[in-house]
Amino acid sequence: MRIFKKFIRLVFFVLFWSFVSREILNQNFQDVEICFTQTTQKAAPKYITIHHDAIEHPVTLDEINRYHRDSCGWSCGFAYHFYVSENKIYQIRNEETKGAHVLNANTANIGICLHGNFDKTKPTLKQQILLIALVNYLKFKFDIPKQNIKPHQDWEQNNTHCCGQNFDFEKFKTFILD
Ligand SMILES: [Zn+2]
Repeated sequence: MRIFKKFIRLVFFVLFWSFVSREILNQNFQDVEICFTQTTQKAAPKYITIHHDAIEHPVTLDEINRYHRDSCGWSCGFAYHFYVSENKIYQIRNEETKGAHVLNANTANIGICLHGNFDKTKPTLKQQILLIALVNYLKFKFDIPKQNIKPHQDWEQNNTHCCGQNFDFEKFKTFILD
């Protein structure tokens, strides 16, 4: 029975991986790259945190990178590992490299940010499909427990209601396999 379960998990992993690999693009920023090469601090991911960017107008990744670097003063630039636009997944940081998206809990914590302000709108259907596939893929890849997949607001000391009141996180989690 256990072998059967493992086999099923493997089948799903291959399915999610093949879908994600078609939908993902690497977006490299030089300042983020420099941080990657300077830091030796790597950790196998144990958590996944979901965010929204709370931006209602179209935005480029370059603008977000400059905002994080210049206005927030985060020298490593783009704070998240993944960004899900309305129709594509972008990978900016390596999963094992530290992000800068949760207060006091960035070690081994993959940050995924969706474009949109989900206090006012909802994620598009394509965004929801991309997110479900990406989170399942990462969960299998790094063996992340389901309870460690959270919205930003569930982290203590983080005074936020990210990823927005219209993002139904409980419903989203029903699409994440055990
Ligand atoms: Zn957030």
